[in-house]
Amino acid sequence: MKILVTGGAGFIGSNFVQYMVNNYPEDTIVNLDALTYAGNLESLKSVEDKPNYRFIKGDISDRVFIMELFEKEAFDVVVNFAAESHVDRSILDPEVFVKTNVLGTLVLLDASKKFQIKRFHQVSTDEVYGDLPIDRTDLFFTEDTPLHTSSPYSSSKASADLFVLSYYRTYGLPVTISRCSNNYGPYHFPEKLIPLMIIRALNNEKLPVYGNGSNVRDWLHVTDHCSAIDLIIRNGKPGEVYNVGGHNEKTNLEVVKEILKALNKPESLIEYVTDRPGHDLRYAIDPSKIEQELGWKPRYHFETGLKQTIDWYLENKDWWEHIINGEYRSYFKEMYGER
Ligand code: NAD
Repeated sequence: MKILVTGGAGFIGSNFVQYMVNNYPEDTIVNLDALTYAGNLESLKSVEDKPNYRFIKGDISDRVFIMELFEKEAFDVVVNFAAESHVDRSILDPEVFVKTNVLGTLVLLDASKKFQIKRFHQVSTDEVYGDLPIDRTDLFFTEDTPLHTSSPYSSSKASADLFVLSYYRTYGLPVTISRCSNNYGPYHFPEKLIPLMIIRALNNEKLPVYGNGSNVRDWLHVTDHCSAIDLIIRNGKPGEVYNVGGHNEKTNLEVVKEILKALNKPESLIEYVTDRPGHDLRYAIDPSKIEQELGWKPRYHFETGLKQTIDWYLENKDWWEHIINGEYRSYFKEMYGER
């Protein structure tokens, strides 16, 4: 198979590219990425010389470029990770989220329809369901939970999901969608909660926690997300949505405290900051459909996965020090002020 992976230089995309290149030497993996601030080819050093891997720089919302690429390459499968992915950035500047996440997905769908792709897989998020009350631990997102978004980011992802499903119903394009909870693991960009806290704790800097830290996220190791997508593109039913999650609900404060404990740093580094506007309270996935229909099971326990992730950041300082450059520093200052 020839598989187009878009956004393969980002956090989950780069983990997925490595997973596929290493597990399926007979398949060809083509990574298309615009290399925005979040794209980093240093995350792909381990596969860049492999014969079944290729990188192409380009923008998924550039219709002419995408049509030419599909005509030339004859892909069998498209897996769309490419996105603007950070909620805080979507609050500051929503427009680029519509351009990449909605228009970009539409362009890929049109190309997939025209060139009769065998499977179009959209990597989506549980954030399209909105949030759940903190105190109703009996409630979970299922695939039938109505879309009810809170942020410009999740609204753009929900819009894309609706276009994807409409291309199945209207044109018969064989699509699938995965809606996954929060991922953690190696190559995670330092603006996101877990790497941000690891790196700031290592530097003895204050750890900014939104509100009182009680918002709950459902964490899944990125490798478990990769194995779920791999199963869906091979065995998932066209037109179906699959929720992916590992029943690992933690408050943000619990996660931050676990990181401080593992690094032997004091809790006095925690600093509570003004809450994110519209901050979702609790995410919790019910993954029974993918478990029962496709036999998927996560392999990582959160505690061991987090420990391994912290070790990875300790062993790969060069990777994140290259990222923490002027551009990222000024963004951080805009978000959290000088500290
Ligand atoms: P990321 O921000 O780390 O990576 C996104 C990648 O897309 C980057 O490499 C970037 O350069 C590329 N990109 C951005 N705009 C592009 C464009 N116009 N054309 C081509 N490439 C472009 O994101 P991530 O955390 O790896 O998330 C990947 C996907 O998974 C996203 O669609 C996101 O919505 C979804 N998702 C993420 C999580 C999570 O916890 N991170 C959870 C569920 C779903």
